Amino acid sequence: MSQIDKLSAIIQDMKEKGLYNNIKTIQSAQGAWLEVGGEKKLNLCSNNYLGLASHPRVKEAAIKAIEKYGVGTASVRALSGTNELHLELEEKLAKFKHAEGAIAVTGGYFANMAAIQTLIGKEDIVISDELNHASIIDAVRLSGVKTKFIYKHNDMADLEAKLKEAKEIQKEKRSDGEEKVLLVVTDGVFSMDGDLAPLPDIVRLCKKYDALSMVDDAHGEGVLGDHGRGIVDYFKLHGQVDIEVGTLSKAFGVMGGFITGAKSLTDFYHQKARQFLFSNGLSIPDTAALIEGVNILEESNELVTKLWENANYLKEELKNLGFDCGKSETPIIPVMIGDENKAKDFGNMLYEKDVYATPIKFPMVPMGTARIRVIPSATHSKEDLDFAIKAFTEVGKELEIIS
Ligand SMILES: *Cc1c(COP(=O)(O)O)cnc(C)c1O
Repeated sequence: MSQIDKLSAIIQDMKEKGLYNNIKTIQSAQGAWLEVGGEKKLNLCSNNYLGLASHPRVKEAAIKAIEKYGVGTASVRALSGTNELHLELEEKLAKFKHAEGAIAVTGGYFANMAAIQTLIGKEDIVISDELNHASIIDAVRLSGVKTKFIYKHNDMADLEAKLKEAKEIQKEKRSDGEEKVLLVVTDGVFSMDGDLAPLPDIVRLCKKYDALSMVDDAHGEGVLGDHGRGIVDYFKLHGQVDIEVGTLSKAFGVMGGFITGAKSLTDFYHQKARQFLFSNGLSIPDTAALIEGVNILEESNELVTKLWENANYLKEELKNLGFDCGKSETPIIPVMIGDENKAKDFGNMLYEKDVYATPIKFPMVPMGTARIRVIPSATHSKEDLDFAIKAFTEVGKELEIIS
């Protein structure tokens, strides 16, 4: 069997075990409802928290920019591909985050790669929360760092223990004579449970042990803090987290990622990050759309307020029905089911009732903690949410999750 033929055997095996992902195709814009397979489904599975993905002003900005600048940038940013829109976006993102500088790249995944790989080499030290996003895990791997510590999720005693161990190791210098860089990295909002990192405690420990702090605010931007400025704003920690990574693909509704921090940090990334030097930047329409997205957020808190109203209403109603919504502190609402197959059935039955919310199962979460992840947005009306609540009530009773 050739190497390529072996892949089809693997795929076949996945299909037999029910592990093959039949990816659904969306036939409409992202919004409160989606058209899928020719049918309308209530959308409770997108990260389009504020509805910016199809906001009229955002679309208009992209179209206007295409008329003026075309579509592609035809070069990496470091050569001739930096359009004035890129600089405008980075300036606006820095202001939005109350940071000195910003660098934008083509994904949150890329931003984590750039943030970590550029700063950390194999003789440095990284300490990471056990539930951090795959892109952080991959970025740490890419850096080639040999000394890695994984602390128990949000466990500050364990983080401190790891910091103490790291300090011992740090006493020995790198082979170039420099001190080993020590980095602590965490997600801001954990996407499977919707809980928050205890960022004030993490910052305090990083200061105590003289470590760099980094937070990936992918599910926090547009959601937490004043005008959706994110987790650092939510905890009033401006200027105290060394590296803030964000995505432009979730609440910002387009695509891309960015890093904010001290000007010296973002300048360093503009000069040294391989993801910036060797891959094109954001396209013209993406960049223009994102600028307008930041403008909308700066102008008004309205969409963020609506998002939270919807999330709080839905979460309270689900809890009142008897569902366990775990430790969610954000609009990410896990409806705990437990059994993997039951969660799958729950998802399918909701879907038949025209509610599209994704089951999250092992290996994304520990075995036996399968759940339906519900993410409302600012675009939902109260009627939409009531439609969802009715479906959850019916399916929950049928599967005997609630009585
Ligand atoms: C979604 C997500 C990313 C990836 O962002 P993209 O812009 O889609 O590449 C990175 N980190 C976290 C925590 C995320 O939730």
